[in-house]
Amino acid sequence: MINKARKLSTNFRQMVNRFFPKRSIKEAISQKHCYLCGATVYQSKPICEGCLHDLPFNHASCARCAIPLPLTTENTDSKKICGECIKSSPSNTQCFSAFCYTFPVNVLISEFKYNNKRHLGKLLSTITAETISDKIKNRQLIKPDKLVPVPLHIDKLYSRGFNQAGDICKDLSRALGIPIDNSCIARTLNNPAQASLTKKQRQQNLANAFVIRKNIEGEVVALIDDVVTTGVTAELLSKQLLGAGAKEVVVWSLARTPLNQ
Ligand SMILES: [Zn+2]
Ligand SMILES: [Zn+2]
Repeated sequence: MINKARKLSTNFRQMVNRFFPKRSIKEAISQKHCYLCGATVYQSKPICEGCLHDLPFNHASCARCAIPLPLTTENTDSKKICGECIKSSPSNTQCFSAFCYTFPVNVLISEFKYNNKRHLGKLLSTITAETISDKIKNRQLIKPDKLVPVPLHIDKLYSRGFNQAGDICKDLSRALGIPIDNSCIARTLNNPAQASLTKKQRQQNLANAFVIRKNIEGEVVALIDDVVTTGVTAELLSKQLLGAGAKEVVVWSLARTPLNQ
């Protein structure tokens, strides 16, 4: 019996090796292609080690607005605050963006939002969730009670088919075990795209765009968006959430635009 079993097992191994040379069955089944360069990858995330390493991580950033700071030993301190935030203290307690909004992250986010490539958003939010999880464990980030996506106006939701911040929330919620509150904020006005406007024009446009629909007394809320650009939306909503009773507001996004953009 023992010999027979050994023989079968050897034959089976030879058969497997012919189809899957040098890789175990488990590895072969989990084979994927890197979304960025197409190389074959055998890990859970569809990105190869080289491309992952080359992504523009926001390693040194302001703790209050996530603006990328020059990479020095001092600036990797999670409590470092930029000059702008010292002058005008933001309403949110913390702001964290995993990436700088530069190539290729800017292209990936644009494809995610405007060309319905939701798998690219999932890749970035999975990496963001891992980074946030580490920072919560190291007490560099506060763990919030709930995740609140920045809502899209209903017209834009119909034309795009999904809210990118909602997608990001789902991935973060699953990875971090924090519930999502989709009904907390309503968007009442459909503003034109904010990207081409000045900071002042954005403030005017957004002033009446959102309504907080419930009392969130004593809760620590994480406001979730895809990109923090000028920080105007984050500031306005943080102020409104605090006005509705939130104990603290933190802002989490995939990416942050650098100062010169
Ligand atoms: Zn790659
Ligand atoms: Zn700052």
